Amino acid sequence: MNSVTPTQSNHSPAKLALVTGASRGIGRACVEILAKQGFAIAVHYRRHKSLAEQVAADCDQAKIFAADLSTPESPSQLVTQVQQAMGPISVLVNNAGITIDKLTLMSSEEHYTQILNTNLGATYRLSKAVLKSMIKQRSGRIINITSIIGHTGARGQSLYSASKAAVTAFTQSLAAETGRFNILCNCVAPGYITTEMTKDIPESIHQHIISRVHLGRAGTATEVAHAVGFLASEHASFITGTTLHVNGGMAGF
Ligand code: NDP
Repeated sequence: MNSVTPTQSNHSPAKLALVTGASRGIGRACVEILAKQGFAIAVHYRRHKSLAEQVAADCDQAKIFAADLSTPESPSQLVTQVQQAMGPISVLVNNAGITIDKLTLMSSEEHYTQILNTNLGATYRLSKAVLKSMIKQRSGRIINITSIIGHTGARGQSLYSASKAAVTAFTQSLAAETGRFNILCNCVAPGYITTEMTKDIPESIHQHIISRVHLGRAGTATEVAHAVGFLASEHASFITGTTLHVNGGMAGF
């Protein structure tokens, strides 16, 4: 059986999912959902070790791994460490990401490098690093967290939107390259979700965004994670190269 079944029998080990940026927010919720689906989890974090430890403690099988993924070397080092400690990775969730909101005229080379290296660079490098083992397994899922902003653009988010649009295109091409190995590559594009990333948005802008959401509210990290859980499951075995939007219906999109 080639599909990604978390636990193949009572005696075989659970399949392994690596979730980046998993100490909080959407990444943390992905860990919770995937662990409930029976996956062993590699919980990646950058700065918040104690939070990552709590996340891992709530799973049956999980270990934590630290890395700043914005450097060219660290993604492949992370994959090597995870595979040495826990075995081959069946599901990679590229969730770690940043936004630095600036009008293009006010942005700098440093902003460009930080955003592109984190959002696109880490996704590219981590995906590349897991491919050999997934090809060997003739099975794998790569799930990239993009954003509605990568499809619509937004004032003050030119670099962020460009990085997320690039991840969408990257995922489509990767799906085309890896389908023959039964590796499925998809994106989940959240809309407006309540996490640390959005907590400092001023009330007036919050109200403006909410007014554009058909469901009239922000989404939760868990609602995004359920989409990731679906794409990691057997039920998504004929879905690749696409984007699942989780945005409560956003007007103008
Ligand atoms: P958070 O800011 O809560 O989490 C971001 C995570 O990314 C953190 O765990 C952070 O680790 C990690 N991270 C950031 N930079 C690096 C780096 N250089 N190396 C390693 N890890 C890093 O945000 P969300 O949970 O909201 O965001 C998760 C994903 O969802 C992101 O890709 C974001 O772009 C996307 N998204 C979010 C939306 C929202 O409304 N919240 C909407 C659309 C997309 P640490 O805490 O250690 O710094």
